[in-house]
Amino acid sequence: MSSRVVVTLAGDVLDPTRPVLHADDLGAVRGDGVFETLLVRGGKACRVDAHLARLRRSAAAVDLAEPDVDAWTRAIGIAATAWGAAEEGAMRLYLSRGREDGDGGETALLTVSAVPARVASARTTGVSALTLARGYSVDVAGAAPWTLLGAKTLSYAVNMAALRHAQRAGFDDVIFRSAEGYVLEGPRSTVVAVTDRVMTTPPVEHGVLPGTTVDALYDVAGSAGFTCRRAPLRVADLVLADSVWMVSSITLAAKVHTLGDTVYGETALDATVRELVDTAISR
Ligand code: PLP
Repeated sequence: MSSRVVVTLAGDVLDPTRPVLHADDLGAVRGDGVFETLLVRGGKACRVDAHLARLRRSAAAVDLAEPDVDAWTRAIGIAATAWGAAEEGAMRLYLSRGREDGDGGETALLTVSAVPARVASARTTGVSALTLARGYSVDVAGAAPWTLLGAKTLSYAVNMAALRHAQRAGFDDVIFRSAEGYVLEGPRSTVVAVTDRVMTTPPVEHGVLPGTTVDALYDVAGSAGFTCRRAPLRVADLVLADSVWMVSSITLAAKVHTLGDTVYGETALDATVRELVDTAISR
């Protein structure tokens, strides 16, 4: 296993100690581009088709050229193999508008690095979270598509700032709420509330990123006896839920053990939810 893998879209495995971006790359200086993060498990990337479908949608939202799905699929395979099967890895697909002078075309790179240390405890013991205002209405995604809500752009500084704000207040993670008080998403995860055997996640029309992990979960949860809904959720609905989860490609299922003042106990279905997400993403 390598400690870091860097691969070009053409499939060249680069020396990971060498710089690869120009100082005027628009992804670096303006966040002008899109990305994806995939789990590498057993030397293979998980849910490749779903991530590439979202990469295409995100690229279209920011007027980048249609990504070459065959080239990305091949490069993903090369990067996952170079990472190896010994340990899980976090693969990032980076696609930016390229250099400021515009001559060199888009920049497309793949990297694989170790799964962040926080992930192990989030998977097993869960996370504490704070709800924070995102500052706008659920109508903004439809009314102002240039805000790029629902696209996975490289502009994540606001999400990272929200996480630091929560961490200063002693919490691990954030659940954003809309101006009307609807639950939106985490800065890097989808929110799922579970009550009895009903799972509810906010609708993508509310301006949240369409999550690949919640899709995978919903694909398998029905046959495990769950009803899976996409419906507006209020913060009060989270407080009343049996359990609340933040699901995402790398962390998988992080149970919210504390939401502000609310502390959730273990439920009989917690292990089932964790297992469902784990098996769903490996299919
Ligand atoms: N919402 C946001 C803002 C994210 O950054 C992510 C993570 O990529 C998700 C939701 C969950 O998406 P996925 O399950 O595809 O990782």
